Amino acid sequence: MPEYNVGTVVIMKKQHPCGNSEFTITRIGADIKIKCNECGRFIMLPRIEFNKKMKKIKA
Ligand SMILES: [Zn+2]
Repeated sequence: MPEYNVGTVVIMKKQHPCGNSEFTITRIGADIKIKCNECGRFIMLPRIEFNKKMKKIKA
């Protein structure tokens, strides 16, 4: 399981409607809240779905 924390930048498999695929994790719980690094919108995903949709952690 990949390691991530609040503040970790991740690349998602699917782009946000704004065309960006880099997001910053802003909350971790049962749900993971991520913020689009381009347009600043927030998305909330159940952890299991987040793990499926995340492509990789940005180095
Ligand atoms: Zn966006």
